[in-house]
Amino acid sequence: MTNLQRILNTLDELAPLRTAESWDNVGLLAGDRSRDITRILTCLTVTDATLDEAIESGAELIVTHHPIPFKPVPRITADSTTGKLLLRAIEHRIAIYSPHTAWDNSEHGINAQLARQIGLQNVRPLAPFSADLRAPIDTGTGRYGILPTETSIESLQSTLTKSIPYCQFRHTHSIQRVVQKVGIVCGSGGTLLSLAIKAGCDAMLTGEATYHQCLEAEANNLALLMVGHFASESFAMTELAARLSRLHPDVASKVSKHEHSFF
Ligand SMILES: [Zn+2]
Repeated sequence: MTNLQRILNTLDELAPLRTAESWDNVGLLAGDRSRDITRILTCLTVTDATLDEAIESGAELIVTHHPIPFKPVPRITADSTTGKLLLRAIEHRIAIYSPHTAWDNSEHGINAQLARQIGLQNVRPLAPFSADLRAPIDTGTGRYGILPTETSIESLQSTLTKSIPYCQFRHTHSIQRVVQKVGIVCGSGGTLLSLAIKAGCDAMLTGEATYHQCLEAEANNLALLMVGHFASESFAMTELAARLSRLHPDVASKVSKHEHSFF
């Protein structure tokens, strides 16, 4: 058992909040820092299912990748989905913390983990943070790097399907096309396509992109590789629970078993 503030300090070391995007809503979103914590549930998103799981397991803290609330809410009532979920968490005295883009961007965060899984070398951020963030030089938005050899999309599909649970691989271009300089943006990375184009990548690995973003990639001769939003991030919440368990052996940290992808 430890108090919430001590867990928050650890989370800030794993995914420093100063590395979150400015538009994001990260950190402690509901809760009392002085409360004791014996159990933590990590998940990608707070839903009725993950809340049920937290309540049933006696978790006092949910670490959710996606923030709730994300946008400012003027009232917390059961009239909206966000309000209903927040109300339920608060009624059960469950604190909510979201590292979101801090976990995407940080030195050993989601994008860095994805880069390692496909064997990228010379890994750099697609958009490095400025020095005034006092962040390590290799943190920033997204990542890109070089594969040791030219690799076909088909071979990357095989690597990703083996290493990422729930992978639902989709791609632009021919599956025989070879790529070597690869950008990485977990989640809805289609919005950051221009960064990968600017970095001279010949492929970008992301969770999801729209039809029009796929067309834009095609027009710029960049292959988009999509594994699904859920698959591109959920493995990292398993990893976060494992890291919390190692750093706080007196607190039971578990990843949600009741989340799923769509399609
Ligand atoms: Zn996401």
